[in-house]
Amino acid sequence: MSVDYNAFASDNGAGICPDAWSALEEANTAHAPSYGDDAYTDTACGYLREIFEADVDVFFVFNGTAANALALSALCQGHHAVVAHEKAHIVTDECGAPEFFTGGSKILGCPGEGAKLSSPEVERVVKQRRDLHFPKPRALSLTQATEFGTIYDVEELKELTACARIHGLRVHVDGARFANAVVSSGATPADLTWRAGVDVMSFGLTKLGTGVGEAVIFFDRALADEFDYRCKHAGQLASKMRFITSAWCGLLREDRWRGVARQANDRAQSLRQSISDIPGVEILFPTEANAVFARFPQAVKEVMHARGWHFYELAGVGDSRLMCSWATREEDITAFAADLRLAFDEANGR
Ligand SMILES: *Cc1c(COP(=O)(O)O)cnc(C)c1O
Repeated sequence: MSVDYNAFASDNGAGICPDAWSALEEANTAHAPSYGDDAYTDTACGYLREIFEADVDVFFVFNGTAANALALSALCQGHHAVVAHEKAHIVTDECGAPEFFTGGSKILGCPGEGAKLSSPEVERVVKQRRDLHFPKPRALSLTQATEFGTIYDVEELKELTACARIHGLRVHVDGARFANAVVSSGATPADLTWRAGVDVMSFGLTKLGTGVGEAVIFFDRALADEFDYRCKHAGQLASKMRFITSAWCGLLREDRWRGVARQANDRAQSLRQSISDIPGVEILFPTEANAVFARFPQAVKEVMHARGWHFYELAGVGDSRLMCSWATREEDITAFAADLRLAFDEANGR
């Protein structure tokens, strides 16, 4: 089998996993009600209520940016502020959509090791201005698993949400890789969300193995008031909804999402092990989900790219991000590690 040089570029680069694909095919029948009034959407919502052990309100949108921006728009108005990590997707990768859909909420970025927020840092940012001339902090948004492949455990979450409550902030979780975080932490989805004080979550399965569509899940259902209108208003209500939600059913039924997430996480562990003993490789952050971050010398990166390997660097920092997915194969890891070893030799003139 030939080497997949794109294997570590992004979990968004992976195809649709077999469980989701077969469910889509099953849903491809003659006619079904549109705009989410179909049986697949109903079933997917039922699975989510079981998985989260709560009577949640669920809305499906096309992607993670829409899920985050619309979820935040249910918490904040234009004169509010959202506290988030400075490397959070809502800060760095959503082109101002959260600001746009909230009507102008300012996002206040906090520093923190491994892309994780800490309550002292959140408190410092919240307290630095409380006057009329600065937007009023109204929401805390945290990412689980984080942008750097780390996770918050239940105690860390509780500390953050307690801090949020004290300062009058509602809590949003960006769960684009929530499945990876759940299987890594060993805690239940409920323990990692509403039982720890989370009000609303963007839950993504696209990176795990579907083709399109993310869910906004309200644990505090009062916040979901008119959210169906917000989705439609934003152009985020799918007419053929069953082609989003049937794929969700394929992954949610029989807890298959857990196996798929575990496989992606295991591949990341395997990749980390395979490259960590190469002299000169520096691994960054704990590998707790499906990403490995490493620091390679510039010359080594150039050799790897010239060999055809595609992977991304952290903007302005140059550290390399290696993502795994359900489709990452052990032979890709073996090939990458072998090429990396050679790249170090070549860069060192041996
Ligand atoms: C990928 C990702 C999203 C969703 O991005 P879209 O491209 O809008 O689907 C959201 N948050 C995080 C942390 C992500 O990695």
